[in-house]
Amino acid sequence: MPTTSAFTGGDHMQPWSLTVDRLITHAARWHGDRELVSREADGRIVRSSWAASERRARRFSAALLAAGIRPGDRIGTLAMNGARHVEAWFGMMGVGIVCHTINPRLFEDQLAYIVEHGGDRWLLADPMFAPLAEQLRARCPSIERVIYLCDAGGLPPGAAPGSDFDGLLAAHEPDAAWGGFDEHAPAALCYTSGTTGHPKGVLYSHRSQLLHTMICAQADAIALSARDTVLAIVPMFHANAWGLPFMAAAAGAKFVLPGIKLDGRSVYELLETEAVTFSGAVPTVWQVLLDYLTVNRLRLSTLKRVAIGGSACPEALIRGFRDGHGVQVLHAWGMTELSPIGTVAGRAPPEVAARGPDAELALNLKQGRVPFGVDMKITDDEDRRLPHDGRTPGHLRVQGPAISARYFREDREALDAEGYFDTGDIGTVDEHGYLQITDRAKDLIKSGGEWISSVEIENIAAGHPKALMAAVVAIPHPRWRERPLLVVQLKDGASATRDEFLGFLEGKIAKFWMPDDVVFIEKMPLGATGKLDKKVLRTRYPGSAAS
Ligand code: AMP
Repeated sequence: MPTTSAFTGGDHMQPWSLTVDRLITHAARWHGDRELVSREADGRIVRSSWAASERRARRFSAALLAAGIRPGDRIGTLAMNGARHVEAWFGMMGVGIVCHTINPRLFEDQLAYIVEHGGDRWLLADPMFAPLAEQLRARCPSIERVIYLCDAGGLPPGAAPGSDFDGLLAAHEPDAAWGGFDEHAPAALCYTSGTTGHPKGVLYSHRSQLLHTMICAQADAIALSARDTVLAIVPMFHANAWGLPFMAAAAGAKFVLPGIKLDGRSVYELLETEAVTFSGAVPTVWQVLLDYLTVNRLRLSTLKRVAIGGSACPEALIRGFRDGHGVQVLHAWGMTELSPIGTVAGRAPPEVAARGPDAELALNLKQGRVPFGVDMKITDDEDRRLPHDGRTPGHLRVQGPAISARYFREDREALDAEGYFDTGDIGTVDEHGYLQITDRAKDLIKSGGEWISSVEIENIAAGHPKALMAAVVAIPHPRWRERPLLVVQLKDGASATRDEFLGFLEGKIAKFWMPDDVVFIEKMPLGATGKLDKKVLRTRYPGSAAS
């Protein structure tokens, strides 16, 4: 019998590197006619297909290389969801250029920081973001060129002739060679708010994105199919639209991109006219849609499943979709650092389903189970694992091939001794393996799916000449889920008004960061070390959350 060493002549399987260009190449080759449908800013519906968009993406690759952009260089995008944005992604990634998606709603100083830290060489922008793109170009020396995601007729006033995406594509052939590089090479960059200091960059690799796509393809995860029509409402600048463009390409699904308008009527129209079967968005978007449907007595006729995540999914949403429209909610938890899917609660396991719809609903309200490819644990303050009894909350830590080990330009790994990443969330895990998020250890507020840094607002507010101390806590809000409340202790003898403080913050933070209210308190609660004790504040302002 041969010894095992006879079989150690290296890997006998094919060296098929896990690079994301394979996804769109597959979609173009095997599902070429399946449509990509975009709604432009002016409301027009524009149709492409995986085959046509793949060719356009290759033209863009050729344009980038001809302009001297090199593998590993970063290109920023300031854009909503549209087919050109998808083409730009694959065009960059196909030749190893890093696609840096940027949230255009951030405050200008933050945006400038992110662009400079990313070292973006070009900015690709929707024409509606032209003023922002031009401001950033003026502030950030790394930006050599702004390209607008439109045709020549759609260029914003003052834009350089030839700076339209379509014109650039027309000047190049669809002949760029894709892939052929190390699967560990970076593919995409996305910044997320840290509790303190500047936003942090999550640098996804080709391998991590491809594996995330395959992780999400599992039946109890997202499981898109070639029979699905997918409406990607979650923005492409937020954790790569949860990876939906990659998943849709892998499945060969029809892919619908809604652009800027996400009000109830606009979303409903797209769902119905395009016969959408699957969609993903934060709870705020779904709440607005369900309210619209109720008020107008409308029904969803094609939608079968919705992924809801980014914040906890309220019971009313699950009931509204299930009872009113027969739509299955996939309640997902994740983070930018996780690519982003961490857990999914969809159809209950048989032992729970057997107990009836109420038991199923109770489980659906939890954040769900890990798919293969993600592992999680909950730990106490000393890093000891806690039991899965559904009652004991602990620090939620995760591990997997699509989870960050460290942030962009940071050397230090953000992992514990067992190689798990601390999510900053607090949760329980029950006997079925279902995670429930119960609290947040990180000092942040999540409003309409986007982060607000309490610490940053506090630091600015504390700079008001009449302020002795300032704190920001989250208060519940029916539409945005959480909104900031500013709590101020004034200096001895000082008096001030709410508007004085709000006026002081104006122009220093993004509009959506502006606290909904300001309250003045006699004495700020302090902990043993003299630090502000937010736990006490949270009990004083009922419903205020972990911030
Ligand atoms: P982001 O990186 O912006 O996607 O935010 C990730 C964070 O959002 C998580 O660490 C949680 O604090 C929160 N989050 C995401 N999904 C959920 C969910 N389903 N329920 C509760 N919190 C969530």
